Order: sequence, then structure tokens, then C-alpha cells
Amino acid sequence: SFTPTSNSVVVIGLGRFGGAVADSLVRLGHDVLGIDENAELVQRWADQLTHVVQADATNTDTLRRLGVADFESAVVGIGNDLEASVLTVLSLVELGIRDIWVKALSLRHGRILERTGAHHVVYPEMAMGERVAHLVTGRMIDFIEFDDGFAIAKTRAPRDAAGKTLAESALRSRYGITIVGVKRPRTDFTYAKPDTMIEAGDLLIVSGPTQLVEAFAALT
Ligand code: ADP
Repeated sequence: SFTPTSNSVVVIGLGRFGGAVADSLVRLGHDVLGIDENAELVQRWADQLTHVVQADATNTDTLRRLGVADFESAVVGIGNDLEASVLTVLSLVELGIRDIWVKALSLRHGRILERTGAHHVVYPEMAMGERVAHLVTGRMIDFIEFDDGFAIAKTRAPRDAAGKTLAESALRSRYGITIVGVKRPRTDFTYAKPDTMIEAGDLLIVSGPTQLVEAFAALT
């Protein structure tokens, strides 16, 4: 077995979501203990994670025996089985895990998880659905919203900004957004400065309150 450090994370449920989390954590240099009750999945992940165990994570004693109590952070990727998801979070709370992250499929599921003691509830399907809605219109090439109503988007420069510097087009005072970076086709992104010239076809990284970023992207 393995002795966790502050760099270690336990990931419970190695389905599509948990698997992606575990894989990325390893890539970022973390030690990962993966737990799943499915023997086939445990087999599949055996070579990629620091340690993988087949176990039922709803059982507090099982988790304790696996040394889970020594971890500071846990990610629960069980989603479809609501009961297992809640009981696993409850076990982690009982073991005193300081930082519990868990995926929820619905807001109701998320509310139960919060009440149970999860510290961070994420909604991968809902968050990605919202992102795709922004992308499918074709106006935003990428879009990230933070939970305080602030967003960053990659979008095309509006026509009336072309041929002017950022200072001249005064996009910040007119639209309430800030241009963070500018990219011309086939060149790297540069940080935006007042004297940065915008040309038709440029891509902009725009930040600001979500609604203002959306309105700005709709100009293009
Ligand atoms: P995804 O949609 O991300 O694939 P799923 O909810 O389908 O998520 O998968 C969750 C994973 O969690 C599955 O691999 C399943 O075997 C595992 N799992 C479900 N219940 C438990 C449990 N009680 N203990 C350990 N692993 C579990």
C-alpha cells in the first residue's frame, strides 16, 4: 500500500469522470490512490495510477483499512448511483478528510451532498452543457464561467474594433469588458495593451461579467 503525502489524492469511482480526474492528477505529478468496486476498471487503471484497489467505498471500515483517513483530499466520481455517492461522502466525512470533492448529476443530488458534508460539489454535465451552448452559436470559440458570474471567453474581434488600437476603440468603457489577449492568425497570443492594434479576423481573450462578455461576443 502507500503512504500519502500532501501531494496525494484518493479518487473513488474510476468511471469517465473519476478516470479523467485521476489521469490528470498523475500527469500533474500527484500520487493517486484509485478505488472502484469494478474489477475490470481496477485492472484497466492498474498501470496508470500510483495504486488501485477494488473495494466498496460506501464502507467506512474498508476505507479506513485502505488508509484513506491519511489523505487530505478525495474526489468522488460516483454519479449514477446516488445512494453510493452519498454514503461514500459520508464515509469520507467520518474519516475526517479535509477536502472532499464530489460530482453531482443534478442540483438536488448536489444539495444532499453538501448537507452530507462535501466541501466542493461539481456538476460536469451541467457545466459542459452550458459551455457548449455558448460555443454552438459560433460566436465564442471558448468560454469559461467562474461561479461568481465572471467569465473569460475567446471570440472574434467585433467589426468596429478593426483598424484601431484598444485605446481608440475604448471597448472597456463601451462594453464593460476587458481584453486580456489578442491573437492574429498564425501568431502567438500577446497580452493586450492600450496601443495593441486590432485587425479584422483577430481572436480576442475577453474577460468580464458573464452577461457583458456574452453581449460583446454577440457583436461579432
Ligand atoms: P461516469 O459517468 O463518470 O462514468 P459513473 O457513475 O457511471 O460515472 O461511474 C462511477 C464509477 O464508480 C463506476 O466505475 C463504478 O464502478 C464506481 N462505483 C459505484 N459505486 C461504487 C462503490 N460503492 N464503491 C466503489 N466504486 C463504486
